Amino acid sequence: MKNLKPLFLALSLSTMTITTAQATNYQSIQPQQKQVAGYYHYQMDGVQITALLDGTNFISPSLFKNLSNEEIQNILKKYYADQAKGIQTSVNAFLVKNSNTLTLVDSGTADCFGAHLGSVSTNLKAAGYQPEQVDTILLTHLHPDHSCGVSKNGVANFPNATIYVAEDEANYWLNPKSLKSIPKEKQSGYLATTDKIKTALAPYQAKQQFKTFKLGDQINGFEVISTAGHTPGHFSYKLKTPQKDVIFIGDIVHSHTIQFDRPETAIEYDIDPEQAVQTRLKQFADYAQNGQTIAAPHLPFPGIGHIYSQDGKSYQWMPIHFTD
Ligand SMILES: [Zn+2]
Repeated sequence: MKNLKPLFLALSLSTMTITTAQATNYQSIQPQQKQVAGYYHYQMDGVQITALLDGTNFISPSLFKNLSNEEIQNILKKYYADQAKGIQTSVNAFLVKNSNTLTLVDSGTADCFGAHLGSVSTNLKAAGYQPEQVDTILLTHLHPDHSCGVSKNGVANFPNATIYVAEDEANYWLNPKSLKSIPKEKQSGYLATTDKIKTALAPYQAKQQFKTFKLGDQINGFEVISTAGHTPGHFSYKLKTPQKDVIFIGDIVHSHTIQFDRPETAIEYDIDPEQAVQTRLKQFADYAQNGQTIAAPHLPFPGIGHIYSQDGKSYQWMPIHFTD
């Protein structure tokens, strides 16, 4: 044993030397290199769902309601999600290839929020599709991080697609009479948002490629689920496949840590926070019990997975496993 000691020490020293050399090399590499993969194909029962990354975003912990900063930090630490820049959220859209239709669910931001976002179109092409092939766009709601991506500089990004959104959602953002129902202090923000939405939708409206639906309607095999609260006409979409349902949940949740651990936590962006919380509690309970596959625009890319609960009170996000 004695004789082994110097050898062990020598090995340790040489390992340290390598480690130090590697560290020096790594330091010379830019830490913020762009990831290559911005799409992910998920195959199930004859349907291919391709998650498209628009980009990643950082939001302030203070946007989450009714939790102290200490509670928020504890949750983030528990899930190894504490970051100096804020809480990381993904912006995802989903391309669904059925037997003979190509449907885009939500569309990302285009250039509405800056250069760190807006990659849906690029990633759609990288995934092997052309924008002209998309025939249907389902928007969960009209917030610009879901609707701006349909066009750029007044030109439709998906010239052959018809956009569908709930009638209540269209009324809230597009009917001038809605302004009266908005609290005075929120009107300027509301008008700035409607400007972005109207600009994005205009090329489709001009060609009668913008339609609304109501509860009970079906679009290309998708059922619509009312999930109002985040916005007044927020809807999720259910796609039935022979073995499993896939739910495109939209913005019923914005954080895979805080709002799974404490699902009663609203976010500043919710137009009706109480209703948004009730919607999340109801939908999460259903998804945890029945095991539907979930596709979510603001959960970590690719945003596809399942919702688990041990006690029916708090939840866990179970992302799908990478398969090639
Ligand atoms: Zn959103």
